[in-house]
Amino acid sequence: MINLVLFGPPGAGKGTQAVSLVEKYNLYHLSTGDVFRYNISQKTELGMLAKSYMDKGDLVPDEVTIKMLKSEVEKQPEAAGFIFDGFPRTVAQAEALDAFLADKEMKIEHVLSLEVPDEELVKRLLNRGKTSGRADDANQDVVWNRIKEYNSKTAPLKNFYEEQSKLRGINGVGSLNDIFGRLISAIG
Ligand code: AMP
Repeated sequence: MINLVLFGPPGAGKGTQAVSLVEKYNLYHLSTGDVFRYNISQKTELGMLAKSYMDKGDLVPDEVTIKMLKSEVEKQPEAAGFIFDGFPRTVAQAEALDAFLADKEMKIEHVLSLEVPDEELVKRLLNRGKTSGRADDANQDVVWNRIKEYNSKTAPLKNFYEEQSKLRGINGVGSLNDIFGRLISAIG
């Protein structure tokens, strides 16, 4: 079993690369953003709560996100491993994930950190907003707030995983194929 975290700011290409990684390693792709959006589309209580944060580009509170993540993992007892995409995003989430996986005799092998400059991220997100149907991609203030949330709450996780020798920095600028190649060599 191999469990990966796809790490990086919004617009770094986590979701796109996850699709190729799933195909190559036969892992279950768990994107917390996708699960929240599904809940919003189904108008569940969780969806409505998450939406009130997502519309502003704020992080959904840890307690809610961690509970949801655990329940999504438990729905997949047959999975050969997971790609966590967009989770963890805070140190509290990372600690909760480690404890939760340890209970199941599982662990994270690699944290693949896609590195892309802020200006390029804004360009990509606003461009994606023209077709993604995601309100949080279409508004420049919301896009910048998401990057701000990343820099203040999520980027500190790099130290957390560096200390565990799991952080693999990947240049996230280039062709999809080139970036995929870099990810594969980082997994080794
Ligand atoms: P994403 O699809 O990963 O860009 O996530 C979209 C939005 O969902 C984020 O801007 C947050 O509001 C929320 N979200 C997704 N994952 C998390 C997480 N791990 N912790 C808190 N909020 C999250």
